[in-house]
Amino acid sequence: MSRPYVIDQMISAKSIAARIEALARDIHDAFDGTDKLVVVGLLRGSFVFIADLVRELDLPVEVDFIEASSYGDGMESSREVRILKDLRGTIEGRDVLIVEDIVDTGHTLSHVTDYLRSRHPARLKTIALLDKPARREVDFRADWTGFEIPDAFVVGYGIDFAQRNRNLPYIGQVRFTDDA
Ligand code: 5GP
Ligand code: MG
Ligand code: MG
Repeated sequence: MSRPYVIDQMISAKSIAARIEALARDIHDAFDGTDKLVVVGLLRGSFVFIADLVRELDLPVEVDFIEASSYGDGMESSREVRILKDLRGTIEGRDVLIVEDIVDTGHTLSHVTDYLRSRHPARLKTIALLDKPARREVDFRADWTGFEIPDAFVVGYGIDFAQRNRNLPYIGQVRFTDDA
């Protein structure tokens, strides 16, 4: 059963691009002199963000992906996080940046961070495009955040609702129109 909804723009493509430029400068400063930065995207929601971010990074980078279970097709976090697809490369002794779309309850990124830290990277940092601090259930803060947003269900810029709307160039808020 699918309810009718509209998408209200929350963050424009232009604002996202400007924020990513600033974030890339901070990341560059933090990892300056690295021989190789392994940029790890969390599938699938981070794929647009990671593509834009690495193109602003003037550092030697390798790109890898990891997939953790989360919402499925619904709108609620599952809380129990499992690794569905692991990295292809090794990160021991390497500098690593984990790239996530949204920190919500915090379960996903704190689990993935612990998981990758157990492989002994040299430096491990995290970046999330969006942060919903009001929803936090575990004590987790990304090293860098693009935008803090209120407790709303968002889509676009890689982020889906039931696998749709990932291709929107902006971040929008889902608003149901049947007031059920
Ligand atoms: P957490 O484990 O922090 O609760 O949430 C992690 C995942 O939930 C995020 O990576 C994201 O995939 C998903 N999520 C959280 N908020 C939203 C949202 O507003 N829209 C969508 N589509 N996914 C969300
Ligand atoms: Mg995600
Ligand atoms: Mg999802």
